[in-house]
Amino acid sequence: MDDKTTRSIDTIAVTEGEEPFETGSEAGDVVSPIHLSSTFALPGLDTEMRLEDVDPDAGEFVYGRLSNPTRHTLETRLAALEGGEHGAAFASGTAAIFTTLLSVVEPGDHLVAFEDLYAGTRRMLDDVFVSRLDVDVTYVDATDTRNVAAALRPETTMVWMESPTNPKLALCDIAGIAELVADRDAVFGVDNTFASPYFQRPLDLGADVVVHSTTKYLNGHSDAVAGAVVTDDDTLAEELRFLQQVGVGGVSSPFDSYLVTRGIKTLAARMERHETNALAVAEFLESRPEVTAVYYPGLESHPDHALAREQMSGFGGILSFELDGDIDDAKRFLEALSEFTLAVSVGGVESLIELPAGMTHEPLSPAEREALGISDTLIRASVGIEGTADLLADLERGFDAMARRSPATSD
Ligand SMILES: *Cc1c(COP(=O)(O)O)cnc(C)c1O
Repeated sequence: MDDKTTRSIDTIAVTEGEEPFETGSEAGDVVSPIHLSSTFALPGLDTEMRLEDVDPDAGEFVYGRLSNPTRHTLETRLAALEGGEHGAAFASGTAAIFTTLLSVVEPGDHLVAFEDLYAGTRRMLDDVFVSRLDVDVTYVDATDTRNVAAALRPETTMVWMESPTNPKLALCDIAGIAELVADRDAVFGVDNTFASPYFQRPLDLGADVVVHSTTKYLNGHSDAVAGAVVTDDDTLAEELRFLQQVGVGGVSSPFDSYLVTRGIKTLAARMERHETNALAVAEFLESRPEVTAVYYPGLESHPDHALAREQMSGFGGILSFELDGDIDDAKRFLEALSEFTLAVSVGGVESLIELPAGMTHEPLSPAEREALGISDTLIRASVGIEGTADLLADLERGFDAMARRSPATSD
């Protein structure tokens, strides 16, 4: 495999883990088949065999929850994309995050997290880890690394970050935080969903473990819910595997594993186009009088633009912006769009748009939303790979609809 370590991520995305004759097919399939079997015939009764010794790399499989050739192909590719040794595929990003946290923290432990986390992760921390498992969590504004340093305690066993965050595209300094955590008995995890490994590789920056909602950019086609974890840490990987296969069992199904493996093939081409379109949309929005702020790491006006240039190789396809008006203006704008579909989620080839205050971040209290700077007119867009001019024309339609509002028609 040594000659492969120099292969570009573009090439890894297309072929890694999917060599003909090596993925359980005698026929030499170029595309790894979907192995639906829940169990695998054993060559004989070996009473010495222990489940831990079964090696999927050697084509050994016993039972579908433990491992499966299609999932194994995906796990091999995921690990290579993030530059890690061990990859694990899950039934959702949520299952990947839960299993990762559970493989590190125990009752009585302390965890430091970015306050601007994915809303579902925040709920998981509050309503499962804090409420039921007696884990203490401190949320910090991690855009300033000093806040992370100040929150660390002797009993801190995990630091959990996202960068860029949702929905304000805030960044944290991954290498800086990794340095803080390095000389402690703690694990530094990064949810890399928004950047994708194409634009950011947290393990290279010093993180211990990286997770994805592969539902988003890695699958890229909005047709599978799935998750991933990658780490270089052998001890953590062993605990993760135990929880993935035995303790929790939230594994990726063969069909979803196939879809994500297939989606990943075009990762490089898609991410380049997402970024070109997102930058065009961000610049267009910034030029409009109806828009009071645009949050996109690729804009020079972004407070962490310099950090983005340093730790990312691109800025991605997600942005958010603030409309000058009230929630009715935001509704009018959103409902006039036809290329951007009103829907939660991000990372698919089609452009999606949403109102965090009324959709993804609705579960938070108004006070929590205010603390995170999520106003009633903050709009998040996941810019797809459609024609750039069509997307800009669509946004014009939104602005026209806002302008048509007169005192007589306001409700
Ligand atoms: C979507 C998302 C998740 C949750 O993933 P699911 O696949 O929906 O379970 C976690 N983190 C981030 C950043 C996400 O965007």
